[in-house]
This record gives sequence, structure tokens and C-alpha cells, in this order.
Amino acid sequence: MDGRQHRLFILAVSLVPLLGVAVAMVLLWNRAFGVSDVVSLVVMYAIGGIGISTGFHRMLSHRSFKSGRAVQDVLAVAGTIAGQGPAIIWAAHHRRHHRVADRDGDPHSPYAGGEGSRRAILKGLWHAHLGWLFDEELTSDPVRYCPDLVRDRHLRWISEHFVGIVVAGLAAPALIGFAVSGGEPMAALTGFVWGGLVRLFLLSHFTYAVNSLGHFHGRRRFSTPDESRNIGWLAVPSFGDSWHNNHHAFPRAAGHGMRWYEIDPSAWLIKGLAALGLVWDVIEIDKDRQDQRAAGLARIGGGRHARNEPPVPLAEMPRRGRRPAADAADIE
Ligand SMILES: [Zn+2]
Ligand SMILES: [Zn+2]
Repeated sequence: MDGRQHRLFILAVSLVPLLGVAVAMVLLWNRAFGVSDVVSLVVMYAIGGIGISTGFHRMLSHRSFKSGRAVQDVLAVAGTIAGQGPAIIWAAHHRRHHRVADRDGDPHSPYAGGEGSRRAILKGLWHAHLGWLFDEELTSDPVRYCPDLVRDRHLRWISEHFVGIVVAGLAAPALIGFAVSGGEPMAALTGFVWGGLVRLFLLSHFTYAVNSLGHFHGRRRFSTPDESRNIGWLAVPSFGDSWHNNHHAFPRAAGHGMRWYEIDPSAWLIKGLAALGLVWDVIEIDKDRQDQRAAGLARIGGGRHARNEPPVPLAEMPRRGRRPAADAADIE
């Protein structure tokens, strides 16, 4: 799949679910909506969401834990059905984001359009949310950003068969609805709408909200050279990825929620898999290290009550030189 096909596909998976949401509203209005549709939506959302958060993000992009072949393949396929791009491309964009977050070269910073006016803010948020996916110029070379993933034969196969896996993920709830209802065509349609299109729509926007709002609005606990923020209300739908300031402070940590009240379903899943012996070498950050880092922000006037707007205009922030291309050991 070349860059143009990739963008066309992303355009399709952004627009078609909108139609699905419209159909879903008509079905709701007519009360053509059953328990099986709710189950279909929740189960398919959970599979895609865990695939993105635990699979694409923590496992592939950051190597926060190790696993066997089967667990890696299952998580990578689960992430693929979310329709957010092939696994290796997703990880390449994401590693690049961490390397230059909110500075030149960040694929999806909400500050890319400049700062100041309301128009610039909205333009920046749109770019960080969805607009960046349609940027003709934007490519993150997987060989440069994730040579370790490119070398993996299974991940290459899953990435190359991206479209087929997304389509299978849309067909599955329709087929299951059809089978469970004993052959009702309407059940196939509502399964497709709720478990396929509405699920795709909701998961995309909750994931992309971490990129846009997660660098714009919310609290900061740690001093990081970017504008990452923690957003509590996004924690459940993003499976814990919205503790985004914690994550930028400690990118390789498997857990993003760092307090008992910071809900982090992906971290619970990783712990469960570790207890079963299915994953290992789970990266954890001890409390002392977290506290030391948080104290740094408290001294400069941040902490949990930091203002929502960037404390220092980005234009005045020290710019660090670009770092050379990463090798496999330089995963952030
Ligand atoms: Zn970020
Ligand atoms: Zn990350």
C-alpha cells in the first residue's frame, strides 16, 4: 500500500463510519436496537481498543513488555481492525511523535499551525486530531523509526494485509449477528452498523483525542519538553492511554496510570498476562523515581494544578537539536 492508497483508505474509514452513525441514529429512533447490538459494540470496541493501546502502542511502539509470538500476533491483529493504519506505519508515526513531540517534525502536534488566535488553536487541534492523516507530505519511514518491527516477518504480513483485516473486523459482527439471530438479515445489518461502523467511529475519535486534547487540555504532573497532559475522563475509552503526561515522562513504562485512581485497563491486562506467564520483562517505574520527577515540576510551579494552557509559549522553549536515526535499542 503506497502513501496515496493509505490516505484514501484513512479517508474512507473516517467518512464511512459517519454514515454508519447516521444509520445508527435512525435505528435508535425506530427502536430497532437490541441487547445484541450493545454487546456487539462493546466487545468489538474492546478488541480494537486493547489492540491499539496494549498492542500497537505499549507493545510495538514502546516495547514495554516482551511476549511470545502468539500473543504478539493476536494483539497486532486486534489493533489492525481499528482501521488506524498498518501496525508498522502506526508505530513509526508514534515513535517519531515521541522523539520530537510538539516541535518541528511531530506528525500530530496541536501547535503545528502556530499559536495565539482562536483560529490557530482550532486549526492546530484539527490537524492533531485527524488532519495530519491527510497530509500528503507526511511519511514516517518505518526502516528509520522501527527497524526492529520491519525485520519481523509476522508483523510485516499483518501490516501488508491491513485492508483485509479491517474488512474482516467489519464483517465479523454482521456474521455473528446473523448466526445468533438464527438467520435474520436485519440482525446482520445492525451488527455491522453497531459492531462495525459505530465502533470504528468511536474508537478512532477517542484514540485521536489523545493526540489532540492530550497535548492541549488537562493536568501535568511531570515536567516534559512537550505539552502532554493527563485527561481523566478519557481514561476508560482510551484504555489508559490518556494519562499522556505520565506516558511522555516515562515512555517505556507498561502502566500509564500512576496512582490508584488513574484507571488504566491496558496495565491491568498486561499484569494479568504477566501473571499467566504470557508476557514478561514488563517495564515498571518505581514510586521514588516518579516522585523525584514530579517534584521537579512542583518546583517550577506546575504539579497537579498546572494551568491548561502551555506554561511557556512553545516559541520560547529551548529547541534541542535533531537526534540521529534510531537503531533498535533506541525505543522511546
Ligand atoms: Zn503525545
Ligand atoms: Zn507513546
